[in-house]
Amino acid sequence: MQFSLGATQAGKPAVEQDVIILGTGPAGLAAAIYAARADRKPLVLAGPDLGGQVALTNAVENYPGFPESVGGGDLFSMFQKQAERFGAVLDFSTANEVDLTVHPFRILADTGEYHAKTLIAATGASPRRLGVPGEDTLLGKGVSYCATCDGAFFRGRNVLVVGGGDSALEEGIFLTRYVSQATIVHRRNELRAGTLLRERAEHNEKIHFLMETVVDEIRGEESVQSVAVHNVKTGKQDVLPVEGVFIFIGHEPNTAVFRGKLDMDPKGYIRIDDRMRTSVPGVFAAGEAADSVFRQIATSAGMGVAAAISAERWLEENK
Ligand code: NAP
Repeated sequence: MQFSLGATQAGKPAVEQDVIILGTGPAGLAAAIYAARADRKPLVLAGPDLGGQVALTNAVENYPGFPESVGGGDLFSMFQKQAERFGAVLDFSTANEVDLTVHPFRILADTGEYHAKTLIAATGASPRRLGVPGEDTLLGKGVSYCATCDGAFFRGRNVLVVGGGDSALEEGIFLTRYVSQATIVHRRNELRAGTLLRERAEHNEKIHFLMETVVDEIRGEESVQSVAVHNVKTGKQDVLPVEGVFIFIGHEPNTAVFRGKLDMDPKGYIRIDDRMRTSVPGVFAAGEAADSVFRQIATSAGMGVAAAISAERWLEENK
C-alpha cells in the first residue's frame, strides 16, 4: 500500500516513536500509563471520540477503587493526567490510514505522518445504529445515543429508549431526572439487562415498558415529533407522540482503519492472542476494538496494560 503523501508529509519529517497508541478510552490510556512508565514516551492519537465511551458516562459504579462511584469524564481526566505525568503525549488527531506492511509502521493522521516501532490499537467501539428512516436526519434533533450528553434538553418531555440491555436501562433511569416519561422499547418479551438494573427500572414510576415492539420510523420535520412502531407478535402498528429517541442497542468496533490489514472476526473485532498480539508482529490491540464479550472499563484497562507490557517486551526482543 502507498500513502498518497509519500514517506513524509509536505516535506515535514515523519516522527518516529517506540509506541503509538490509537485511542484515548480506558484501554488506550492504561496502555499509555504503562508505556510511559517504561520510559517509551508513547504518542497517543486521540481519535474522534476523546475519552471513548467512558467520557460520556454519567456515573461509573463498578470501576474498582471508587466505592462512591466516579463520573465518567472525571475518570477519563484522571487516566489522562496519570499518563501525561509519566511522559505520554496526547495528540488530538485521528489516524486515517495505517501501513502495517512496512516497519516502522506508518500512520497517516490529521496532524501528519508518524512512524511507530510498535502500535497499540485501542480504537474502541461506537453505538450501533437502528437503521430506520429518520434516524440519521433527526440526529441531534431528538435522536441521541447519549443520555448524559443530551438528557437535559428533554426536561418535562416524553422520550423513547430503544434496547433491552444494561445500557438502555441505566441510561433510561438517568433520563428520569429530566423527562416526564421514558418508554423502554424492546424487541423481545424478556429484558437482557441484569437483575439490579431491571429492578431499579421496574420501580421507577417514570419508566414504562413496551415489549415485543420494534421501531419502524422516527418522524418529524425540524425535530422528532413521533415514532412509528409495531408489535412483533401481533403486527399491530402504533404511532407514539414523543420528542426524543435514545438508542442503546449495542456497539460496533471502530476498526475500519485496520480492515484488510489485521485479522478480524466476522463482526470486525480485531483477533488477538492471550498477549494482545494481533496477526501482525509488533501490533497489539486492547479494549472494545478487540473484545465483544466483557466490554467493561476495568477489562479494557486491563487489556491496555497487557498490550503495553507485550509491546515493551517486543521492543526489547527486536532492538
Ligand atoms: P447489549 O447487552 O448487547 O444489549 C443490546 C440490546 O439492544 C439488547 O436488548 C438487544 O436485543 C437490543 N438490540 C440489538 N440490536 C437491535 C436492533 N437492531 N433493534 C432493536 N433492538 C436491538 O448492549 P449494552 O446494553 O450496550 O451492554 C453492553 C455490555 O456493557 C454488556 O455486557 C452490559 O452488561 C455492559 N454494561 C454494563 C452496565 C452496568 O453494569 N452498569 C451498564 C451498561 C452496559 P436482544 O436482547 O433481543 O438481543
